[in-house]
Amino acid sequence: MPRLLPLLALVGVIQFGPIGTHAQANPPRLVVISIDGFRWDYLDRPPATNLRRLAAGGARVEHLIPAFPTKTFPNHYTIVTGLYPEHHGIVANTMIDPAIPRRFLASDTAAVSDPRWWGGEPIWVTAIRQGQRAATMFWPGSEAPIRGVRPTYWRRFDPRLPNQDRFNQLLAWIDLPPDSTPRLLTLYLNELDFVAHKAGPDSPQADSALGRIDRLIGGFVDSLAVRGLADRVNLIVLSDHGVTASPTDRMIYLDDYLDLSLVDIQDWNPVAAIDPRPGREAEVYSRLARAHPHLSVYRKAEVPARFHFRAHPRITPIVAIADEGWTITSHQRRPATDLGNHGYDHELPSMAAFLIATGPAFRAGARIPSLSNVHLYHLMAKLLGVTPAPNDGTLDSVRVLLR
Ligand code: AMP
Ligand code: ZN
Ligand code: ZN
Repeated sequence: MPRLLPLLALVGVIQFGPIGTHAQANPPRLVVISIDGFRWDYLDRPPATNLRRLAAGGARVEHLIPAFPTKTFPNHYTIVTGLYPEHHGIVANTMIDPAIPRRFLASDTAAVSDPRWWGGEPIWVTAIRQGQRAATMFWPGSEAPIRGVRPTYWRRFDPRLPNQDRFNQLLAWIDLPPDSTPRLLTLYLNELDFVAHKAGPDSPQADSALGRIDRLIGGFVDSLAVRGLADRVNLIVLSDHGVTASPTDRMIYLDDYLDLSLVDIQDWNPVAAIDPRPGREAEVYSRLARAHPHLSVYRKAEVPARFHFRAHPRITPIVAIADEGWTITSHQRRPATDLGNHGYDHELPSMAAFLIATGPAFRAGARIPSLSNVHLYHLMAKLLGVTPAPNDGTLDSVRVLLR
């Protein structure tokens, strides 16, 4: 009998002791910060001091491989659903669905709020359906009631809202009382992407934006520490894709090869979504197929399997993909002036994103050289302790990051 006592004592600790009750009543939160367009190697640039410090003391994916096309909406939604765009349906920032009258534009509030566009189950919906609260300080998809569920707390997207205000909103949600504060929080920062498009990825302007964002993240981590939350928050900082220089002399004019009245071009650059007029598909394909040495043209059913870009009805019958740095346009379109772009082949090194993670769940010094972002939904579900919806990723791919 006496031999049972230590065992009973152990059971007591597990069921009633301070460790057990604390962990159940106050599980670590998950905060996910997305820095749009943060290319994987920006971490080595001088202004990224706070991010480098976080990486040194935490876990890191050196190359986070985006989904194709390497654009903002498809990738943010892949990250939160674990689905390739051909499965979640956000196949571009601009697209048409044969069954939805109005075109999808990222800048159209009515479109982004319409749940018909958003397939799969984003992580905030998974968390809320399983009894948790979730807050989104912006994220593509967060303004629509997906599967009938909106984030517990969310804000209408406003690209001009100062970054400091976004962090302040996050902290205000974190400061809510225990019966209303969220377990999952997202934050989205568009400034770096915007600047790298205009001035180019190697511009001093991009470095300045990087420094401003790095300082805000350093300040946020300090704010958590001041609140005694340094060990109570799992923090993931990641990006959706990289960026490359797009010199203005690398133009592919589709109307040099094709009568544009034969097609509807639903999205242009650097992936042209081409819908031929009825009966014109063979002609359009043969005119474009060998038109330009820096343009790869595929029939939908022949898009290489590694792109995972065939299945969805929103993918057009013909897909044309520009080589790195090239721009697809026409002589009628506004002349392209941007010096940076993304959207290209997701396996190009310049399109790779980054991920660093710190907090009680992560193994300091853990490194994954290269990881597809479809696996992150599994990671987030694990961190929240919720059962993931069916998806294209695996938990095994990310386990090495965890303690
Ligand atoms: P892109 O570089 O074209 O892939 O898209 C980046 C742009 O998407 C950013 O500059 C934002 O203005 C825009 N964007 C990001 N999130 C949202 C959102 N939730 N709603 C509307 N637009 C967004
Ligand atoms: Zn982006
Ligand atoms: Zn961009």
